[in-house]
Amino acid sequence: MFKDFLSYKMNWYGGDLILINPKNTSIKCSICSHVAKENRKSLIKFQCVKCKHTENADLNASKNILAEGHSVIACGVEVLVSTVKQELQTRKPAVV
Ligand SMILES: [Zn+2]
Repeated sequence: MFKDFLSYKMNWYGGDLILINPKNTSIKCSICSHVAKENRKSLIKFQCVKCKHTENADLNASKNILAEGHSVIACGVEVLVSTVKQELQTRKPAVV
C-alpha cells in the first residue's frame, strides 16, 4: 500500500518510483563493492576492511542504493520489481 502511494505521488510529480533490493546496502563498500559486517564500525561510521574507504554509514549506504537504482534502470525495472514483490509477499508481517 505504501509502495502504491509513493508510486502514485511520483507519477503525479512526473517521476518514477524505482524499487531496489536493500540487501547489504549498509555493509557494502560504495568504492570497491566489498561486503562484510565488519565494514560497519558503528551506527554512523563505515570503514571498508578491504580498501579502507571511510565515510558516514548513511552516506555510503545511499551511494549503494543510488548505484542499485542505476543498475535497475539499465537492466530493466520490471525484473527487479517482480523480485521485490516476491520478497514482500514472503515476509512475515511486522509486529507493531
Ligand atoms: Zn572498499
